[in-house]
Amino acid sequence: MSEIRVRFAPSPTGYLHIGNARSALFAWLFARANKGTFILRIEDTDRKRYVQGAEQVIYESLRWLGLDWDEGPEVGGDYGPYVQSQRTDIYRQAAEALIESGHAYRCYCTPERLAALREEQQRRKENSQYDRHCRHLTEEERAVYEQAGKPSVVRFKTPLEGATTFHDYLRGDVTFENAGLDDLVLLKSDGYPTYHLANVVDDHRMKITHVLRADEWISSTPRHVLLYRAFGWEPPKFVHLPMILSPDGGKLSKRRGAVSLLEYRDRGYLPEAVFNFLALLGWSPGDDREKMSVEEIVSVFTLDRMSPKGAAFDETKLEWLNGQYIHELSTEDLLNRVAPLWRDAGFIEGDEMGAERDRLLSILTLLKERARRLTDFVEGARYFFEDPQEYEEKGRRKHWKKPDVGERLNALKDRLETLDVFNEEHLETALRGLAEERGISAAKLIHPARLAISGRSFGPGFFEMMEVLGKETVLRRLDRAMRVLIS
Ligand code: GLU
Repeated sequence: MSEIRVRFAPSPTGYLHIGNARSALFAWLFARANKGTFILRIEDTDRKRYVQGAEQVIYESLRWLGLDWDEGPEVGGDYGPYVQSQRTDIYRQAAEALIESGHAYRCYCTPERLAALREEQQRRKENSQYDRHCRHLTEEERAVYEQAGKPSVVRFKTPLEGATTFHDYLRGDVTFENAGLDDLVLLKSDGYPTYHLANVVDDHRMKITHVLRADEWISSTPRHVLLYRAFGWEPPKFVHLPMILSPDGGKLSKRRGAVSLLEYRDRGYLPEAVFNFLALLGWSPGDDREKMSVEEIVSVFTLDRMSPKGAAFDETKLEWLNGQYIHELSTEDLLNRVAPLWRDAGFIEGDEMGAERDRLLSILTLLKERARRLTDFVEGARYFFEDPQEYEEKGRRKHWKKPDVGERLNALKDRLETLDVFNEEHLETALRGLAEERGISAAKLIHPARLAISGRSFGPGFFEMMEVLGKETVLRRLDRAMRVLIS
């Protein structure tokens, strides 16, 4: 079989949302699993929907997810340029060629005429379709319009009868009646091609063998197939990826997952977890493995294991998976990822390589087990950098209400003050010794003191936490809490 070439062809109309990212990911996986070529092409010919700078967001998103492209913007390749707005001559020539061969025609209908036509069709409750008025112009009529310099578009002469069938890898044979397909516009009056023309011309010229794209494009495919035939070209193979559904089976909405890929980065997800999660949206390794590295997925990826059914986007699962990835990161690696967040929060300054590094690593070691997202290390770590200004209300009611709490904390403070070595082991011995002398459980000291020291009633191991905070800080915080208790 000849080399596999697949492309991801986003339009720069805003951010790259999660559905697009998944299409890119499957195309990339298919290329990598088959030692093929992954091509990035920017489809920016709809100038009305173009958003300035959106290409950069696409590049940043793909790179974040680890989807490198072999040909495309910023890397080049033999079939460029890879940005459609730089290829308008190619499309114009292609449209001309179709006019020449009798598969397309110029249409001079004004926007006003088309709007009136649409209104009329709506009133009669008919499908909105172009009435093919200009398909039947005589040579003379055409010449008059041309001479008058009337603006025109190029439309495709869709067969009036019959049906178009194509094979989709996941759905099997799919058939559309030609009568429903309209004489679609190929070239607009601004000289830019429509998506349909540019997409077909480029997939052919860039030698794309497989088109993997979202299900929503399936109704465009018969039009594309007709175009391929009109050009006399072999169409690529089509794989329309099943829809991503919300957990309740409905459409994915903004509120439920349909946000930009980079928003997941900003919410503290790791790219490797998002990659893993997206790969399982519509594909499975054939066993019940859930956590798989990119290399593992590439090594077993085949289209056969894709499901034609919609795949539910379950953010709880993503969060769980992300937690698994966080737990397995080395603390050094984790620090590199959390440091920017700590800098933004004002917890650390400059780079994290300084003398503080060991302390920062210890903080992460303490918090790692419970974390599910990188952002958990921000609020969850605040008390390692700042004295608590407030104490959790629930904890106060539970652990600070007893009349002798202040006195207990004071005794603990006195005992800790005597320690020369302020480490986990000595702290534990000191606290348990004190509890025993007073005939109370260690918990009666730990809970109120944890609240005093961290402002919270839950957290990592108490003795380790105190060790990381250090003697001075612990004593100062116990003091402050006692003052709050008295007031
Ligand atoms: N430019 C289209 C998009 O924005 C590409 C669809 C396709 O892959 O053919 O998704």
